[in-house]
Amino acid sequence: QPTAAPQRARAEIDLAALRANVRALRAKAPGAAFMAVVKADGYGHGAVACARAAVEAGAGWIGTATPEEALALRAGAGLPADVRIMCWLWTPGGPWREAIEADLDVSVSGMWALREAVEGARLAGRSARVQLKADTGLGRNGCQPADWPELVTEALRAEREGLVRITGLWSHFACADEPGHPSVAAQLARFREMLAYAEERGVRPEVRHIANSPATLTLPETHFDLVRPGIAMYGVSPSPELGSAADLGLRPVMTLAASLALVKHVPGGHGVSYGHHYTTPGETTLGLVPLGYADGVPRHASGTGPVLIGGKWRTVAGRIAMDQFVVDLGGDEPGPGEEAVLFGPGDRGEPTAEDWAQAAGTIAYEIVTRIGSRVPRVYV
Ligand code: PLP
Repeated sequence: QPTAAPQRARAEIDLAALRANVRALRAKAPGAAFMAVVKADGYGHGAVACARAAVEAGAGWIGTATPEEALALRAGAGLPADVRIMCWLWTPGGPWREAIEADLDVSVSGMWALREAVEGARLAGRSARVQLKADTGLGRNGCQPADWPELVTEALRAEREGLVRITGLWSHFACADEPGHPSVAAQLARFREMLAYAEERGVRPEVRHIANSPATLTLPETHFDLVRPGIAMYGVSPSPELGSAADLGLRPVMTLAASLALVKHVPGGHGVSYGHHYTTPGETTLGLVPLGYADGVPRHASGTGPVLIGGKWRTVAGRIAMDQFVVDLGGDEPGPGEEAVLFGPGDRGEPTAEDWAQAAGTIAYEIVTRIGSRVPRVYV
């Protein structure tokens, strides 16, 4: 429930928007299952609430990076037992047994991980649901094509022994957010080859998948059996090259707002904030916004970040500090407590997360994901 009480700051999370985005994305990939990616606390929006909302809107799968994230969701999100949860970022000695006991799908990118999954299955006394991850050209996690035959062969051996069920074959794109990038076709061709190799040897996966948000939105030939969007579900465009969230039919889920902590008159020539990187050009009013880089407001947006106050866009004046930053209100005198909106859907005239990404020289993923734990999430 939204809290009516005034707060220093809040991140409003519009779960109806998230559900609408999931439905819109599912409509783009009608034949495919849907994995809602809720790693990093749901890209900063709250993993539990977002996973639940995504399932309400038809997601049958939840994806996280770490096994700890996945285990926490299985234990505490109250999701239906038949919702599959997959995690993919394992390190040696990870909680394989717990993951297998919790019915997670575990991703394996190489032989050490397969061995640990098999050992986890022995300890759990049941077979592990294993998804084999191929590096088709991302150059990050995933099994290199040269190592694929060994991984497939050993996974099949473990499957015959009843210790593993190979539930998925999958990969991840490097440049799907850059329209026309030649690596997309190259990765897709490599993926088909690696799928064919495994399937010719008897792997019968439930799902084959490679599509992240940009691929789900713009590359139907990549959808296979399941799509795996993250950022688009939160109503954020994967890249300015693909257009705005609105252009893509998505509604931003997070609104970040604060209450002005102070409004004061200052003379011209007054230095503002650490380093005095801003000096008031004349007599003016300054407003103090009680959010800083400890809350995830990027310090790189000092002097550039936009804020809506009293119907007008203002710009961060001087440096963003740990807990606060200043805007030059140009003589306007909103009362303390006046709302300052850093970003939101944009339909009340406020900036968007994409605007902050541009102001900070980063991507909108980083803007929403880094909003700190000191900012309460208010679900509306
Ligand atoms: N799949 C994997 C393996 C990922 O790491 C991510 C996020 O980076 C996603 C899917 C979702 O990507 P996006 O947020 O671009 O949709």
